[in-house]
Amino acid sequence: MSKFFLEKYSTLDAYVPGEQPQDRKYLKLNTNESPYPPSLKVLDAAFKEASRLNLYSDPESKALTDALASSFGVGPENVLVTNGSDEALNFAFMAFCDSIVFPAVTYGFYPVIANLNGIPYREIPVTSDFRINVDDYIGIGDNIVIANPNAPTGICLSVSDIERIVAGNSGNIVIIDEAYVDFGAESVVPLTKKYDNLIVTQTFSKSRSLAGARLGFATASEELINDMKTIKDSINPYNVNRMTMAAGMAALADSEYYIANCREIEETRVYTVYALEDLGFEILPSKANFVFAKNPKISGGDLYRKLKDAGVLVRYFDKPGLTDFVRITIGTRSQMDTLIEKISEVLS
Ligand SMILES: *Cc1c(COP(=O)(O)O)cnc(C)c1O
Repeated sequence: MSKFFLEKYSTLDAYVPGEQPQDRKYLKLNTNESPYPPSLKVLDAAFKEASRLNLYSDPESKALTDALASSFGVGPENVLVTNGSDEALNFAFMAFCDSIVFPAVTYGFYPVIANLNGIPYREIPVTSDFRINVDDYIGIGDNIVIANPNAPTGICLSVSDIERIVAGNSGNIVIIDEAYVDFGAESVVPLTKKYDNLIVTQTFSKSRSLAGARLGFATASEELINDMKTIKDSINPYNVNRMTMAAGMAALADSEYYIANCREIEETRVYTVYALEDLGFEILPSKANFVFAKNPKISGGDLYRKLKDAGVLVRYFDKPGLTDFVRITIGTRSQMDTLIEKISEVLS
């Protein structure tokens, strides 16, 4: 820390992303990326747009906003396109939250953006089987953010459970982070038409194979979207670059390719769960493109290190209550066969 770093940031505990090591070739199952490359139409669209990179991108992301609105059945005034959905979350925290609550086991970025923006937060414990108890969130008089499916558990809430939370906190903002919703859960985007306190965020990073492009969006009432735009235009009006916008449009137009990949990942998830259970693992019921798994024979930390030595990266959380587990991204069937082979070797 330099002597110039402001005092107010001195206690910032920055988010530590999953490793992206460059030292050797790993089988990367640690950051929930898609194992499938973007479709050829997406590559083509991004390449064509590259010749216009001398010009600023559209600060309103109009074409992509319109395409998202029609694909989700909302109006363009209900959509804000962002640089990854982390940016949408940050805008929502900044615009609406002078305090916030979230589950004690969830996405590690929430406390980080709360701290960055000086927002006090409270964590609500999950049950002993890592579930969110909906009743804990009714009428709590505070803003709420919930990932659905949750991370790193993969457990999801039903639409009616989420509706109870949104309806039960009408004087506060409820943010539902649907980063993993395309792998078998149900979206609550349609509820944004009924509730003026609901914000839903989604990303192109996981189900649409565009983690490296940085593209996400928020849907909400026109009023909430306008407030978030004010924040966006005060930080980075050209928040989404031209190639990403073109890639996003093409990805939306090529949705069959992505839907097929998601179904494949869901099947591979089932296959992986059975194979891991055969090896003595306990696995939380996941509707995401990862599983959260523990084995009584080995701690999460040991398994993580031994797999890393064997060339396979999984995610380990050195946090009370989570140290028995590793989070494993679902890759292709053959990648999961490699994983299972390496785990068997480690365990024997
Ligand atoms: C990956 C992830 C995000 C957002 O990722 P972006 O790449 O910024 O879109 C948001 N929430 C959760 C729970 C995630 O796992």
